[in-house]
Amino acid sequence: SAMRKSRIKRTKTVCTFCGVGCSFEVWTKDRHILKIEPTVDAPVNGVSTCVKGKWGWDFVNSPERLTKPLIRRGDTFVESSWDEALDLIASKLGEVKNTYGPHSIGYIASSKCSNEENYIFQKFARSVMQSNNVDNCSRYCQSPATAGLLRTVGLGGDTGTMHDIASSELVIIVGANPAESHPVLATRIKRAHKLHGQKLVVADIRKNEMAQRADLHIHPKPGTDLIWLSAVTKYIIDQGWQADEFIAQRVNGYAEYVASLSKFTMEYASEMTGLSMEELIGLATLIHESGSTCILWAMGVTQHMGATDTSTAICNLLLITGNFGRSGTGAYPLRGHNNVQGACDFGTMPAYFPGYEFVKDEAVRARYEQAWNTKLPEEPGYDNHQMVDGIQNGDLKGLYLFGEDMAFVDSNSNFVEEMFEKLEFFVVQDVFLTRTAQFADVVLPAAPSLEKDGTFTNTEKRIQRFYKVFEPMGQSKPDWMIIQEVANRMGAGWNYTHPSEIMAEAARLAPMFAGVSYERLEGWNTQVWPVHPDGQGTPILYEDKFAFPDGKARLYPVDWTPPFVVDDPSFDLHLNNGRILEHFHEGNLTYRSEAIKHKVPGAWLEVSPELAAERGLEDGTKVRLTSPYGQVKVSVIVTDRVKGKELYLPMNTMDENEAVNRLTSSYYDKHTHTPNYKEMNVKMEVLEPK
Ligand code: SF4
Repeated sequence: SAMRKSRIKRTKTVCTFCGVGCSFEVWTKDRHILKIEPTVDAPVNGVSTCVKGKWGWDFVNSPERLTKPLIRRGDTFVESSWDEALDLIASKLGEVKNTYGPHSIGYIASSKCSNEENYIFQKFARSVMQSNNVDNCSRYCQSPATAGLLRTVGLGGDTGTMHDIASSELVIIVGANPAESHPVLATRIKRAHKLHGQKLVVADIRKNEMAQRADLHIHPKPGTDLIWLSAVTKYIIDQGWQADEFIAQRVNGYAEYVASLSKFTMEYASEMTGLSMEELIGLATLIHESGSTCILWAMGVTQHMGATDTSTAICNLLLITGNFGRSGTGAYPLRGHNNVQGACDFGTMPAYFPGYEFVKDEAVRARYEQAWNTKLPEEPGYDNHQMVDGIQNGDLKGLYLFGEDMAFVDSNSNFVEEMFEKLEFFVVQDVFLTRTAQFADVVLPAAPSLEKDGTFTNTEKRIQRFYKVFEPMGQSKPDWMIIQEVANRMGAGWNYTHPSEIMAEAARLAPMFAGVSYERLEGWNTQVWPVHPDGQGTPILYEDKFAFPDGKARLYPVDWTPPFVVDDPSFDLHLNNGRILEHFHEGNLTYRSEAIKHKVPGAWLEVSPELAAERGLEDGTKVRLTSPYGQVKVSVIVTDRVKGKELYLPMNTMDENEAVNRLTSSYYDKHTHTPNYKEMNVKMEVLEPK
């Protein structure tokens, strides 16, 4: 009937399950989600979504949602009023700060939360709590990519849009699996490859779906990407194939860089990486012959000891071949979470204000001090990794974290949990009582994206609005409101009434977002940063100049860091890990979707046919994996996606016993402290044959 129809509401939202940033309409009646409908208006995805965007939303109405604040009493939690919980937080944070100093508290933001929430959180840490100890989960994934870009081209983001990737003549994917991690982007590449003659190269130790489709799939030894990237670059120069005019006009440091490549001969690369000369020369030739090349990479590159240098080597290769500043060219670190780009952009980083302005820069600091009416700390603060170390050595006593299941997603999680136990005061804001929240002293019930307004920034640096579909469940509240209430109890005197006011402040203060406003972002409108004061965005970076004072890019010599190897031959298998299509990250959300959970109820371990034959494994065999740091128990599937002694264990599970980070170490990339998740040796015992 007309009456019934009129109760159906359609609201635009932005997907929260990966960095592609699909948008669509949510059809609802009361609190029921009737359907997810992508439309042609959606700038990124048009009428496409993947299984997560379509079916991943049941969690919003889960009876397991947190609906009241919780306060720890001994080994249990008791429900409390908001006032009691907030008063306790304000008094305990004040006490820790006064007793041990402002640097004794860490602040971990969330790449699942909005730009405005991240902005207000770093403002809280910096201006109210006087600390730059603020970071987000990009520390676990893409910080090395950002660092590599900042060294060479100047801005920490993808250099073009997904449309530009689709228009490329040659797409090279290194250590990434968009078919499962960035599905709608993958469909663009698949289409361009199949219908428009785009060439596809995949470098990955696992024969993932994109590798199966590629014109060339190379399988280097784990952790040797920098070597083949540098050797291919050197070969291109040795053949005289470099982009002379581009280099002469737009790039600094050519001679020193060329000299630094001397050891990366094809013979050396072939020996070290296990790739054949034909593969290496074939790749160099493909790049030479293509009018535009772009390189996409993700955690197969960044979660290694030498991750920043490998990311730099990617940028060097693109600079030498003139592949920046045009559609179809460029560097694309693929952001994992839906707002990992925005969390970094809006200043939840220990060394940067919003828009990547350095906290040590006096003029910048003065601008924020004047706007926020307070003195600000001058030195960069602790990153996530340093916070955990800080707990161990007694420097860090308090932690305030929102929307991050760190006990599950940080590497060496047994150690991280041990450190959480030592905190004097720990606040967690989340939608569920996550494994991390179980260590907290106070847990605050937060509202997910469907219950609030805000903006997210996808991997293309595209800022998009999402709109409130439902009222927050129970007493839960948007994270920005909670942070404001804590800040005000600490004397801040803020009175933001809507996220648009927070964005307006960020746009006033950070030149990168000068022309960003909620009016300009209304509906399906989007803006790609940097955004000029007139509202004009920048879909393709570096068309005329690179983001350095002289406008020129910088070739940056790098050397190879060998991967971490456990010094004990009984750990004889190499463990790789990553995502699967159906689930999001640590699983708190998608395992609460009946449709998805029914299809994929848990994780599995991929083993090669060779290893299966050697150890008597078949599909369903239960095995225990042991590393020097912990153990997991998991069922195997036998597949030729992995080879020899290489294993693959997806990270997406709700089961503690299958969690890959029980096995990973505390070693990291020295430039960014991003853990080397992808470098672990394990041993395997068969528990029960199938
Ligand atoms: Fe799009 Fe990613 Fe969401 Fe899938 S998970 S619908 S690809 S944004």
